[in-house]
Amino acid sequence: MELNSKIKKTFPRISETQEKALKKLGVETVRDLLYYFPSRYSNTDEIKNTKSVQKGEKVIIYARVKRIKATKAYYKKIPMTEATLEDNEGVINAVWFRQPYISKMLPEGTFAKFSGTISERNGRPYLANPEYEISEEIPVGLFKEIDKGEDNFIFPIYPESKGISSQWIYHNIKKIFESGLLDEIEDPIPARIIKKYNLPSLKTALIWIHSPKKEPDAQSARKRFAFEEIFFIQLIRQKQRKEYQQNQSFKIDKTIKDTEVLTKTYPFELTDSQKKSISQILEDFGKDYAMSRLLEGDVGSGKTAVATTTAYAICSSKPAGKKVGNLQVAYMAPTEILAKQHFESFVEYFSNFNMNIGLITSSGCRKFPSKTDPKKSTNISRTQLLKWVENGEIPILIGTHSLISKSVKFKHLAYVIVDEQHKFGTKQRQLITKKDDVIPHLLSMTATPIPRTLALTIYGDLDLTLLDQMPTGRKPIITEIVTPDKREQTYSAIRKGLEEGKQLYVICPRIEEPDPDKAGALRVKSVKAEAKKLKEEIFPEYEIDILHSKMKPSEKEEVMKSFEDKETNILVATSVVEVGVNVPNATMIIIEGAERFGLAQLHQLRGRVIRSNDQAYCFVFSDTKTQQTLDRLRALKTAKNGFELAEFDLKLRGSGELSGGKQWGISDIGMEAIKNLKMVEASRTEAIKLTEKDPELKKHPLIAKRLEGLEVHFE
Ligand code: ADP
Ligand code: MG
Repeated sequence: MELNSKIKKTFPRISETQEKALKKLGVETVRDLLYYFPSRYSNTDEIKNTKSVQKGEKVIIYARVKRIKATKAYYKKIPMTEATLEDNEGVINAVWFRQPYISKMLPEGTFAKFSGTISERNGRPYLANPEYEISEEIPVGLFKEIDKGEDNFIFPIYPESKGISSQWIYHNIKKIFESGLLDEIEDPIPARIIKKYNLPSLKTALIWIHSPKKEPDAQSARKRFAFEEIFFIQLIRQKQRKEYQQNQSFKIDKTIKDTEVLTKTYPFELTDSQKKSISQILEDFGKDYAMSRLLEGDVGSGKTAVATTTAYAICSSKPAGKKVGNLQVAYMAPTEILAKQHFESFVEYFSNFNMNIGLITSSGCRKFPSKTDPKKSTNISRTQLLKWVENGEIPILIGTHSLISKSVKFKHLAYVIVDEQHKFGTKQRQLITKKDDVIPHLLSMTATPIPRTLALTIYGDLDLTLLDQMPTGRKPIITEIVTPDKREQTYSAIRKGLEEGKQLYVICPRIEEPDPDKAGALRVKSVKAEAKKLKEEIFPEYEIDILHSKMKPSEKEEVMKSFEDKETNILVATSVVEVGVNVPNATMIIIEGAERFGLAQLHQLRGRVIRSNDQAYCFVFSDTKTQQTLDRLRALKTAKNGFELAEFDLKLRGSGELSGGKQWGISDIGMEAIKNLKMVEASRTEAIKLTEKDPELKKHPLIAKRLEGLEVHFE
């Protein structure tokens, strides 16, 4: 047996279903299986009888199927299975939504193990969509081998897939252990680091994570793997950073004083935070290597002014050793609407500076100023625009992804600004920055509130600047947490706003009717149903439209346009849709099912109504009765900014719930490290030290090999 052996070859008798299931779980080799970690541990405590269960509890019940039938749910014609399960103590009901076939799989009289969470209906507990495994009897001593005589022994629970049970995984991992393979595996983390942070070795950690004798051993192993994951991400980032810094850059000596000619024309005073950010960026411009910096600031914190000011410093500079011409700036936005808006902003900010500005999107190009009217912009052909960009006559080019197409060539591209960087992969960033021998400075801007530890990890190759101050004079959004008894009253208040001509967003968690597969999902609002209800019962006199991700781009644009033109008063949308990029007249937002969102996400949704000088309102609707959830939501009223809320999220929600890790390419175990600032800092420090001392990784071949495989995932 070897680490790279295929599971199929190593363990014969794997059925086709099982093979598929393993693939789905991401397990193809022996190594994959060893690194397939339990999601949690259980102990014999968790085995309950039908009478001793409590709402919300995760339980395992061994019971016999007393009655079972396929039916239709009462509220819709949704097929389901209902069963009554019986053990020595009594009975409990079980329900499976959309799985009528279960009635055939578990005929009456079948004895099985049921595991799931206890829900409640009409005050009676039931098992919602439990997993089941037919067995002959209660398998006492099932995990005997790790039972060292204590009353409660712990055993690992792995995420399962149809055909591959937690037990299957456990038993086959045991077989790997028995094969002696562990003795051959080398630890990729240098011994010095293992010792310094008191981490278990790879072999020990693998044993502890899969079959711990006691809880602290499992914790210690998880800590090691969390460290390992973050350490490797940091190594990749440091390597990228080093590579980036090896290139020649445009060295520019400008201070904030040099930009005052521009900033004094702004209709406002820069905030201290903006000034600090600008200074930091200008300092970077003067260094021997290209800047790579992330500017994080809430929606409305004024990132554009930082971008325009620093862009001015660049395009008012001449190429080194030249008397004519100027350096160029590229500004990349995630959507066409945003690109157009930024073009307008740049035109406004630079209107007195006789500076050519271009806009390039897939649907057309524009240039400022127009030949006929120096105060206006005009449509031009793509060919013409590209020609001017290539010969350097257009110092500022704004656009979408089109900016990174091969046909776009700059003469002296010195500065790239990427708005909402999380939408662009590192790869795209490299595409746009590697067009020339001399590497441009890079500024990424984002409003996505993420905790500092996460930022330090996923953006580990970037320096971080926080824009943590809102422009003065802006009225903070009034946020209300609305419980069901206040709903009517709130609608009345909103009606007043609508009467004054203001517009309203309504955000719902779902597009369609609720997905009944999920327990408790029945009351979750859907865009379509909610729009219908609002029209029929609450605001019949107003125009209501819907917007969601399954609509065609052209449909979306139409809906957005009529909202912008105030033809629509109320826009009901899902949270995933980027709505209202800039509709200053929309000053009210309702968020339905708020308890289902993270605080940082709620904050971002709320940011849609900050675009105006009028008082904005956010109504956070929640049906929850738990005090804890209400307290969590109340943080929206007190937190100073999105980053504070992101930190709150991190503290308040379990790492399981902070599942967002996937979108950053971080596993659940890696997210445990994200909760731990010390661990993130340690992994970062060690990664920096290692790449400083051994940039080619000649002394660390194991690390070099591992990075090769990983880099593909983290581009
Ligand atoms: P974001 O950080 O979301 O990109 P913007 O740059 O779009 O924010 O700025 C939001 C609004 O705030 C714009 O209308 C801009 O003109 C205004 N603004 C920016 N900086 C200041 C400031 N220091 N004082 C007052 N208003 C400002
Ligand atoms: Mg912006």
